[in-house]
Amino acid sequence: MLSIGGLTPFTTIDYPGKLAAVLFCQGCPWRCGYCHNQHLLDAGQSGTMAWDEIMAFLHHRRGLLDGVVFSGGEPTLQAGLVAALTEVRQMGYLTGLHTAGPYPDRLAACLPLLNWVGMDLKAPFECYDAITGVRGSGRAAARSAELVRLSSVPRQFRTTLAPFLRAECRLDKVQQLVAKWGDELVLQELQTTTAPAQ
Ligand code: SF4
Repeated sequence: MLSIGGLTPFTTIDYPGKLAAVLFCQGCPWRCGYCHNQHLLDAGQSGTMAWDEIMAFLHHRRGLLDGVVFSGGEPTLQAGLVAALTEVRQMGYLTGLHTAGPYPDRLAACLPLLNWVGMDLKAPFECYDAITGVRGSGRAAARSAELVRLSSVPRQFRTTLAPFLRAECRLDKVQQLVAKWGDELVLQELQTTTAPAQ
């Protein structure tokens, strides 16, 4: 199942309007300089929590939490995400996802299993490679954003106010793009939600 590097048992800020637990998925293909979850980036590192342990935790919290948010790292990196979402929904939880959109095909498979998506937009798509260190990352993110927009899943587009984004009107460009989609861009200061060390 999923490799999980950390868990927040209770949060009111990671899934708008809901009480949720957050599962921090291990691994991310990108290397943003400002990443505050560096310990989650190595996909080769096995998770610190067994999936059975997480399922037992969620079983005991049924009725106390509304939902479960899959965060990271980048949750869509792991092939087991679809099965994990299915299992969590079968327990009666709402499901949320934090993604930056590097794997649009897996995101497409997950969208029917999601009740909410928070998608991170890092900059105008043509500038992504400079932030992520990975060629083609902007194309993947643009395709993922389109999938999110065209789905019926409630969504939030948000961005981290890194110095690169603040320069050369990049933030204005992202805000204008999101406004064109009919959405509002949520601004996050650097160092917001950090996965707890296990
Ligand atoms: S996409 Fe997110 S998790 Fe991955 S390196 Fe960038 S900030 Fe960190």
